[in-house]
Amino acid sequence: MTKESNPKDFSKHQRIKIHQPDASKADRFNPRNRIYVRAIDGLWSKLRRQMGWVAMSFFLLLPWLPWGDRQAVWFDLSQQKFHVFGLTIWPQDLTLLAALFMIAAFGLFFVTTYLGRVWCGYTCPQTVWTFIFIWFEEKFEGARNKRIKLDQMPWSFDKLWRKTAKHTSWIVVSLLTATTFVSYFVPSRELYIDFITLNASGGIYFWIIFFTIATYGNAGWMREIMCIHMCPYARFQAAMFDKNTYIVGYDSARGETRGPRTRKQDPKEMGLGDCIDCDLCVQVCPTGIDIRNGLQYECINCGACIDACDNTMERMGYDKGLISYTTENKLEGVQQKVLRPKLIGYGVVLTIMVMLFIYASATIAPVRMDVIRDRNSLFRENNQGNTENTFTLKILNKTEQPQEYELSVEGLTNAQWIGPQHVSIEAGEVLTLPVSIAVDPIELKRTITKIDIKITAEIDGNPVEIKQETRFFGG
Ligand code: SF4
Ligand code: SF4
Repeated sequence: MTKESNPKDFSKHQRIKIHQPDASKADRFNPRNRIYVRAIDGLWSKLRRQMGWVAMSFFLLLPWLPWGDRQAVWFDLSQQKFHVFGLTIWPQDLTLLAALFMIAAFGLFFVTTYLGRVWCGYTCPQTVWTFIFIWFEEKFEGARNKRIKLDQMPWSFDKLWRKTAKHTSWIVVSLLTATTFVSYFVPSRELYIDFITLNASGGIYFWIIFFTIATYGNAGWMREIMCIHMCPYARFQAAMFDKNTYIVGYDSARGETRGPRTRKQDPKEMGLGDCIDCDLCVQVCPTGIDIRNGLQYECINCGACIDACDNTMERMGYDKGLISYTTENKLEGVQQKVLRPKLIGYGVVLTIMVMLFIYASATIAPVRMDVIRDRNSLFRENNQGNTENTFTLKILNKTEQPQEYELSVEGLTNAQWIGPQHVSIEAGEVLTLPVSIAVDPIELKRTITKIDIKITAEIDGNPVEIKQETRFFGG
């Protein structure tokens, strides 16, 4: 990002400060009250940029990763199958998907209880994309003060080309984001070729345009409004916080009384604390708040104000850390406690959920069978005088290769299988197979006998056996 001047003389800096309405009190839906975020360099901003790069690269490259003859991550809605590398989740396995969402939720609760809203500040797509858009804004319109002046100026050729270039770059990023997002649902190669040659379906064009507008609107215009007014996480995160949760906090005991001074002046003689009231912590804040007013739900823990204040402290020759990642207990001088019941509780649930998920994914059956009894008659006597029950079998081959299956029945003595006992099913196909089972009535000890329909196969060199319990009527 383009860096603004780093004033050594803060009385000079005060002179170039341009008045903006107090963003924390102003109507955020009024475009006149938009926040002009000042770029800052520092430890946390660097970390946020690096994490943004990782998140962005992951998002952009994942749909291009092959896995066999398909995309590694592919949510195939038309076939109702979700492929995640070697794992294929069918509608019948949706509990696995639900478990995955629960793991993500408890992971977030655990991290939030310990580290506060670091998800929001460092990896949330809203934050990552907003900072990408701000980067383009800076490139074309200049640093914060220049942007404020540009917006106040009448239209000119200079203003026109800068605004056009900025919005064009935003639209290109939004379009790339939208096509990438859609390529998680439609194979990426096919999607890009069809999209460029104008052969894609109307549905695909609709979703790409929809997500382009959504990205452009959210990261370009809505920005902090999304975080403050629309994101449900911002609302319920307070329930996860306690006095040992890491927050971004201002050490008011050290900072107050705030006030301007030069490097050479002794603040103690002037009756001042370490805050020189330079306003930089407010100018760099993407949600436009003043952290010196205490913990506010608008704060996304991005650490930009820490970097701004640390830079100021360094220039003044003071100790860093007037604003820092801290906890309420630390600020009040109370002993910090890492292990506490809420954190342990989330950790235990998270560990159990992860272990269950690993077990369930490792033991996921590669074939599924449903046995449906004939509803028209419970049983009948056939030509040989045997008691016969009819069933419809629905067999789903959940693998990605054709498979051969053997069918049999257990639980009846000398049972006769009427219908094919050896079937082959294409990858991902469901075979509907009507079959009958007959038995000499002498062999039936009771009116209703519990039986198992068994399916066996050898899949990838491993024996597979599935049994489905049902009832045999007669006798
Ligand atoms: S107060 Fe600081 S940490 Fe919180 S959102 Fe603003 S800049 Fe980020
Ligand atoms: S807290 Fe730090 S950055 Fe904010 S006004 Fe005071 S000295 Fe400046």
